[in-house]
Amino acid sequence: MNVRTVIAKKRDGGELSEKEIQLFMDGYVAGEIADYQASALLMAIFIHGMKREELCLWTHAMLNSGRVIRFEEGGTPTSDKHSTGGVGDKASIPLAPAVAACGVRIPMISGRGLGHTGGTLDKLESIPGFRTELSEEEFFRAIERTGVAFGAQTADLVPADRKLYALRDVTGLVPSIPLIASSIMSKKLAEGAQSLVLDVKFGSGAFLPEVERGRELGEAMIDLAAGMGVRARVLQTAMDRPLGRAVGHTLEILESVDCLRGAGPADLRELVCVLGGEMLALSGVAPDTAAGEQRIARSLDDGSAYEYFEAICAEQGASAGVLFDAACDPEGTDREEFCAPRAGVLGFDDLRKVGYALVELGGGRRTLEDVIDPGVGILWKVAAGSNVSAGEPLATIHHRAGRGLESARRLLAEAITLEPRSEPAPLILARL
Ligand code: URA
Repeated sequence: MNVRTVIAKKRDGGELSEKEIQLFMDGYVAGEIADYQASALLMAIFIHGMKREELCLWTHAMLNSGRVIRFEEGGTPTSDKHSTGGVGDKASIPLAPAVAACGVRIPMISGRGLGHTGGTLDKLESIPGFRTELSEEEFFRAIERTGVAFGAQTADLVPADRKLYALRDVTGLVPSIPLIASSIMSKKLAEGAQSLVLDVKFGSGAFLPEVERGRELGEAMIDLAAGMGVRARVLQTAMDRPLGRAVGHTLEILESVDCLRGAGPADLRELVCVLGGEMLALSGVAPDTAAGEQRIARSLDDGSAYEYFEAICAEQGASAGVLFDAACDPEGTDREEFCAPRAGVLGFDDLRKVGYALVELGGGRRTLEDVIDPGVGILWKVAAGSNVSAGEPLATIHHRAGRGLESARRLLAEAITLEPRSEPAPLILARL
C-alpha cells in the first residue's frame, strides 16, 4: 500500500480503511507525502464525501497527530463553545466569563480573523496588554485561577489540521462538510472539554449560508463528539445580519463589556444566555437549559460575569486600569455617518460585504501576515428589521484618516437592502 493507491481508491469513490487513513496522515504530517498528493486526496474527498465510520477514523487520525489535553474527571466540569463565525460575532467574549461565573471551566482555543469574519483572539488582543499566545503552563494556570483560558492553537495541537487547512484554503477545498467537520472537531476534541456547544451560523454572513448545509455539518459534528464520549449540542443561529451593533475589534470589546454589565444589544445577550444555558445543562450544573439560561442572565446582571472578565484580563496580561467605557473613543479614530439613501426597512442581502468593509478600513486581514487596526469599524445605530427614513444615519464608520473609507461606503451600500418590508430570521432557528 502507498499513497498513490489511497488516492486512487478515494478517486473511484471507495471508503478508506483505518490503515489507509493512518498511512496518509502520518506521511503528510512527517512531510513524506507532498502537498500535491494531499490536494488530490482532499479533492477526491470533496467530490465523493465520506462515510460515517470513515469520517470518524479520519478525525481521530487528525486529532492524534499531536498532543491531546485531558482534564481529570470528577472535578469542576469543563465545557467549550465553537462558532462557525460571521460578522460581529463576539459572543465568546461575554460567554466564557459568564459560564465560568456559574462554575464551569472553559479551556477556549480560538482562531484569528480571515476574510470577512473576525476572530476572537484578535478582538481580545485589542485590549492593551492582553496576550493569547500562552505557554501550556500559562494556559492551565489561567484556567486554575480564573476558570477560563483564551488561547491560540499551539504547534503541537492537531498539526495535521494546520497543514490540511492551509492547503484547502489555497486549493478551493474549504466548503466540504466532512473536511470542515473533521477540522473543527479534531481541534475542539484535542482541547479536552467534556462538553461542547457548537454555534452553526446560517445566512449571508455565514461560512455556509444555507440552513440545510449547516444542519448537515451540525449532525456530522454531533456524531463525531458522541464517538469520543463528549456531550455536544448544535444551535443554528442567525448570521443574516450582524450580531449586536458593533463590527470592529475595540468596538466589539466595548459591546461585550456592556453585555457583561447586564446591558448592550438584546440579540447578543439572548445568544449568550442561550449558549451558556446549554453549556451549564450539558455540564450538569443546571438541571436543564431553561434554568441554565436564567443563571447566565443572573451572572450578567449581578456583576459576577464582569468580575470574572476583569480577572481573566489581568491574568492574561491586560494593563492594569484598562478602562472599559462604551463612551470612550476607540483609539481616537475619525468618524463618518453612513446614511440611508431612501426610506425602507433595513435588511442585509450580502452581509459578507460588511465584513469586507471592515477589511477595507484596515480592521481585517487579507493574508495571515496583515496587521490589524483595532480601532476602526462600523457601529450600527439601527437594527435589521427597523423602519428608517431617507437620510437617517444607519451606522457610524470609525476610520483612520480616510483609509479605505470610499470602498467601505460602497460595500455597506451594497450590503444593505431598504425594502418596504423585511423580516430578519429568528435568532435561534434550531437546536440539534
Ligand atoms: N473552521 C475550521 O476550523 N475549519 C474549517 O474547515 C472551517 C472553519
